[in-house]
Amino acid sequence: MSEEETLYKIILVGETAVGKSSILVRFTDNTFTPHFAPTLGVDFNVKTIRNKETGQTVKLQLWDTAGQERFKSITQTFYRGSHGVIVVYDITDSKSFDRCRNWIEDINNYSMGGMIMILVGNKSDLPSRKVTYEQGKALADELGIKFLETSAKDNVGVNAVFDTIVQDIQNII
Ligand code: GDP
Repeated sequence: MSEEETLYKIILVGETAVGKSSILVRFTDNTFTPHFAPTLGVDFNVKTIRNKETGQTVKLQLWDTAGQERFKSITQTFYRGSHGVIVVYDITDSKSFDRCRNWIEDINNYSMGGMIMILVGNKSDLPSRKVTYEQGKALADELGIKFLETSAKDNVGVNAVFDTIVQDIQNII
């Protein structure tokens, strides 16, 4: 094992209010707030995780981007140099799901390739679902990326998202 600390830059993208900040805060602080405070531009958080099998520690630099179109130019510059992107939609909001194709196209256009992506359907705790698990899985399969559903509120699937993306990044590096 190298003494040098491994640092991975991971970005969360998706429409406003799908729960990107909530997923990040659940993962880094294990908390959840029900009120909505939109991210302006970008914000980042750092968390060190340890691989239970190898004992290796990996530092994650996690970037929370604003979904608003007016911040698109900021977001595009942040794709550069990143290892992974988490594309998030809200399972109760079909439009946020439809927009994932655009996010993934953007990433492919601006990232110069080699980036690991994962599709995440958040708010799985809500009964007012509009996007089925099968629809999410079908889109991810078509795009050749992994898929998970999460609830930042109930802490379901959030750690699995980060474990999966880190493992996939390690597999290509
Ligand atoms: P962002 O704009 O994508 O960063 O979205 P936020 O993280 O600010 O979340 C938008 C709203 O959705 C807030 O009111 C959150 O409390 C709520 N929210 C986020 N994740 C969940 C979740 O898993 N379940 C439920 N029920 N609400 C959530």
